[in-house]
Amino acid sequence: DISGTDNKGFRGHDMLAPFTAGWQSTDVDPLIIEKSEGSYVYDIKGRKYLDTLAGLWCTALGGNEPRLVDAATKQLNTLPFYHSFWNRTTKPSLDLAKELLDMFTAKKMAKAFFTNSGSEANDTQVKLVWYYNNALGRPNKKKFIARAKAYHGSTLISASLTGLPALHQKFDLPAPFVLHTDCPHYWRYHLPGETEEEFSTRLAKNLEDLILKEGPETIAAFIAEPVMGAGGVIPPPATYFDKIQAVVKKYDILFIADEVICAFGRLGTMFGCDKYNIKPDLVSLAKALSSAYMPIGAVLVSPEVSDVIYSQSNKLGSFSHGFTYSGHPVACAVALEALKIYKERNMVEKVNKISPKFQEGLKAFSDSPIVGEIRGTGLILATEFADNKSPNDPFPPEWGIGAYFGAQCEKNGMLVRVAGDTIMMSPPFVATPEELNELISIYGKALRETEKRVEE
Ligand code: PLP
Repeated sequence: DISGTDNKGFRGHDMLAPFTAGWQSTDVDPLIIEKSEGSYVYDIKGRKYLDTLAGLWCTALGGNEPRLVDAATKQLNTLPFYHSFWNRTTKPSLDLAKELLDMFTAKKMAKAFFTNSGSEANDTQVKLVWYYNNALGRPNKKKFIARAKAYHGSTLISASLTGLPALHQKFDLPAPFVLHTDCPHYWRYHLPGETEEEFSTRLAKNLEDLILKEGPETIAAFIAEPVMGAGGVIPPPATYFDKIQAVVKKYDILFIADEVICAFGRLGTMFGCDKYNIKPDLVSLAKALSSAYMPIGAVLVSPEVSDVIYSQSNKLGSFSHGFTYSGHPVACAVALEALKIYKERNMVEKVNKISPKFQEGLKAFSDSPIVGEIRGTGLILATEFADNKSPNDPFPPEWGIGAYFGAQCEKNGMLVRVAGDTIMMSPPFVATPEELNELISIYGKALRETEKRVEE
């Protein structure tokens, strides 16, 4: 039972913040978005909003990139659909696989498998890992270790890997083969006097203790986002991934990098793994893979794993897994074009050029009396409100501080992601310096209004 454990990241009401795609009902007066343009979206009443979450951390190229529309149109006119089963496939799907395998250089990857979403990518990872261990004749090596506050998706298995109680409670999740280890949030969880390095050492030791307690022969894989996203934008503390990878490697446990948010430049590197020197065995991708113009996800598999799965000698037959829309040609054509644009426009460089303004401009508000922490890197950032600036003093949930801040932003023409008293942002890579100035200015205004509200 992971709910209620005190040291694992589940304190604070924000962990139960509603996390829902909604029921598509007009009873609740939803904000109806009709049109997008660059970093902005427009509602049906014609109001314009700076979309600071890039949709859901995904429209990296903004709202009206004509090349993506052309790529989709061209493919729709040529071959709107063919499947990728039984050794049949399409050119965009093959080309996209090749492109991704070339692009991912943190560790050599040998095979790509397409899905429709990040959740399906992570479910696919679990099946790959189980299949791999069955092929190696170790059917008991099946458990997964994920982290508190991780977000890995909403399907049964990816929601199990997720470390947010809202996704478990009342769903009988997580599944019993999923364990959770510490959330690596230094500000919230470090001990008095503990440095970031010492904190990382302690978390790696806790991970090792968990592995030893369960039996290393039962642990198949560890999954992590390079920077945790939906759980509150939590970059890893210094030396964290070095120490975690050493433990995982020692016990022959596969490392799955969930790059669904971090990939393609968001952190100022092409992949999150590049930034933190992560050498994964498996990689999950989605979101900015197509800049969200079409739904698509992908799994990259290292040669060590794919050799076992595809070896003729295993007696298990083929990897019987796939979706009607795996490698959908229109989605793949759009993703190929997005990758081309990222490269041609030196998007990683562009992110590095604009992100200091974004990070420093917002972190300048850190001394606000209601701000506990402002954290982030590249083009991803969160603000966590806290009383006395302390992680141990959340504001009473009924004050609705985060929601109030979000409403002030919206009133001033800006959309942010609110989760309890944590506010998250991940602007599109195409954001201009002027748009970032506007973002910082509206943020400042909303913060002052929220400070007044707290004073009252
Ligand atoms: N993994 C991470 C890190 C995510 O942020 C998300 C979605 O936000 C997912 C997986 C799930 O992706 P999807 O919503 O496409 O199923």
